[in-house]
Amino acid sequence: MKRSKPDTDHLISKTRQHIQRLADTLSYRLSRILKTRHMIKGTIYIQKKRCGNARCKCAGGELHCATMLSLSHQGKTRLIPLTKYSGVELMQIRKAVKEYQGFRHNRAEAVSDFKRLIEQINKLEQNLLIEVTPKKGV
Ligand SMILES: [Zn+2]
Repeated sequence: MKRSKPDTDHLISKTRQHIQRLADTLSYRLSRILKTRHMIKGTIYIQKKRCGNARCKCAGGELHCATMLSLSHQGKTRLIPLTKYSGVELMQIRKAVKEYQGFRHNRAEAVSDFKRLIEQINKLEQNLLIEVTPKKGV
């Protein structure tokens, strides 16, 4: 059997370390995903507008502000004013929106970590292969 060259041994060791690091990162991403409780697929923003009353302060440029939740559901956008929600409810909604953004971020990172992990596993496979040559004689 043909033993691997010292530089291959070094490469194998480096690749093993790389795989372990990627597995740790992936494990962290998955733990974040698994910890997610409730999420809202949307964004919160401040809507500024004029009410239409010519004698209102907004006619002079001081626009009305409303906190809005923009929800996306099956390709459609729904706008929900958050003005009537209590402080606690608003906090829960903000948290759930943030959870969704974190979830999506971790999901995207997990996809790329996983791709890199497979690349490294393939690299390890190539470097671990040894050759077997037939022996001469009877
Ligand atoms: Zn107005």
